[in-house]
Amino acid sequence: MPHASNTVACLGPDSPHAFDNVPLLPRNGSLDAICPVCQGHGQWNAEIDLVSFRCIRTICERCLGAGWIETGSDPIEVNDIEMTPDGHPQWTTRRL
Ligand SMILES: [Zn+2]
Repeated sequence: MPHASNTVACLGPDSPHAFDNVPLLPRNGSLDAICPVCQGHGQWNAEIDLVSFRCIRTICERCLGAGWIETGSDPIEVNDIEMTPDGHPQWTTRRL
């Protein structure tokens, strides 16, 4: 039996199988929009075998693999811990 494979090349994120088996990435709190290039995946298949799903992936250059981007010139928010007036720590968001 020959090894079954059906390898397709993807020219970019618009190719039909570019996102097969590529998980969507969770949003990073400091970023605020789905990357328009990779649609939130951060990477896509440059080549994928539709039988075994072995693949070669390309990292998105627009979001550097994060899947999410910062839009405009908004300050980046980071999570931090601060003390409430009665001395209890609580999560807060700090703007850089
Ligand atoms: Zn991207």
